[in-house]
Amino acid sequence: MEYLEALHMPTEVNLATPGFKNPAGYIEEVLAQVKAKNPAEPEFHQAVQEVLESLRPVLDRHPEFRSARILERMVEPERVVMFRVPWFDDHGNMQINRGFRIEMNSAIGPYKGGLRFHPSVNLGILKFLAFEQVFKNSLTTLPMGGGKGGSDFDPKGKSDNEVMRFCQSFMTELQRHIGPDTDVPAGDIGVGGREIGYLFGQYKRIRNEFTGVLTGKGLNWGGSLIRPEATGYGCVYYAQEMLKTRKDSLEGKICLVSGSGNVAQYTVEKLLDLGAKPVTVSDSNGVIYDPDGIDREKLAYVMELKNVLRGRISEYAKQYKKAIFVPTDVQMDHNPLWAMKGDCAFPSATQNEINAKDAENLIKNGCRLVAEGANMPSTLPATRLFLENKVLYGPAKAANCGGVATSGLEMAQNSQRMAWTREEVDRKLHSIMVEVHRNCYETADAYGAPGNLVVGANTAGFLKVASAMVDQGLV
Ligand code: NAP
Repeated sequence: MEYLEALHMPTEVNLATPGFKNPAGYIEEVLAQVKAKNPAEPEFHQAVQEVLESLRPVLDRHPEFRSARILERMVEPERVVMFRVPWFDDHGNMQINRGFRIEMNSAIGPYKGGLRFHPSVNLGILKFLAFEQVFKNSLTTLPMGGGKGGSDFDPKGKSDNEVMRFCQSFMTELQRHIGPDTDVPAGDIGVGGREIGYLFGQYKRIRNEFTGVLTGKGLNWGGSLIRPEATGYGCVYYAQEMLKTRKDSLEGKICLVSGSGNVAQYTVEKLLDLGAKPVTVSDSNGVIYDPDGIDREKLAYVMELKNVLRGRISEYAKQYKKAIFVPTDVQMDHNPLWAMKGDCAFPSATQNEINAKDAENLIKNGCRLVAEGANMPSTLPATRLFLENKVLYGPAKAANCGGVATSGLEMAQNSQRMAWTREEVDRKLHSIMVEVHRNCYETADAYGAPGNLVVGANTAGFLKVASAMVDQGLV
């Protein structure tokens, strides 16, 4: 009983509570179960490990979460849908892809999360993304559960007609599982305005209803101003708040940005607004380093190249002679982008793009801040190095939650049948990012890890979802 009192546990606690006999080993027990039940899903294991390891203090303070087996329930998706997506290419050949929707957790609202179209997509990657999404959406202050979906379809090199036929076939199945009060998908890698348009058109045609079933819609048909900009802008707003805690700002900072898609483009734009100097962008073929900085004219060129011409980033170095292009070499043990000299890093391409060697290079070159626009871009060893070396480290689920937060604002506008101004949405996005940072920072402090935004984000995100799950009983 002394032990119970020391843990502030109710004395009537059920002795069969999971992990009760060995509280220190409880997290390891759950992790071992996750690995055994979900073999060959390393990204999912990694995402779960990162979250669970930071939840020890909160589980010690809240034994009711252990009794209610909240961790075991959170790592199990509420529903997984996996389906065949057949379509015809432009040559009349039949093509077959695999479609997915992971409905992870609906304790605090309808499932919400993007669709990713990329050849690397598989069940494990989408489960990691859906798991992260649950905590991220909880942090936004808006009522959204977590989900994620997509396909191993590669839009690169496909004609618009092929992309349309694929999207129509994908939605023909997906429409049974989603709805404005059930599950509201958005874009992610490989799913931008074009794909959302085709998906929305097919949903409307089959269901005969015009609703806010997807976010990232075009402005003339229910979209929100600032949604395309939101993830990148939000990430930079979050970085601004991180720097303020050290009485610093982005003014004059040399910034390394990876990727050249949606998140990277608007990260660069907001960095320019705030007086920083972005010097890199990349795609899967290589890295551009521009010592003169990527100014507004060069950013407009990147946007045209990527969004309209759908070209490769190597073209940039042909257009701007002082820039250099370093092609991707998969044999290398590091990414040359993170070996460039910079004050701040904004990984905005994909998962695990910063390994321990990259983190060492960044730290060696004086990088003071990492704000994650991409989802889980840092490996666990890289994250540990940032934290140990007191680099300001903004984990993805906090730093990039501006995208889904603005999707939440799009849903609110759809429900009201109203459209807010650009200034109004941007103001709301900014105040959400300030609030998310404050919440992460203060929660980290309250749980004995001052300045550790990983602990802050995971704990704050977890508390809201876990309490809702306890309130709603065993479902
Ligand atoms: P996007 O517009 O499709 O752009 C993705 C960029 O990353 C492209 O430059 C792409 O290069 C590069 N990339 C993708 N996979 C890569 C790989 N395996 N290796 C190297 N580069 C790779 O996608 P996005 O929306 O910007 O998403 C980027 C990241 O942000 C993802 O982690 C996504 O989950 C995350 N995120 C996005 C949002 C959102 O609102 N869009 C919100 C939160 C988080 P290629 O053109 O060569 O493929």
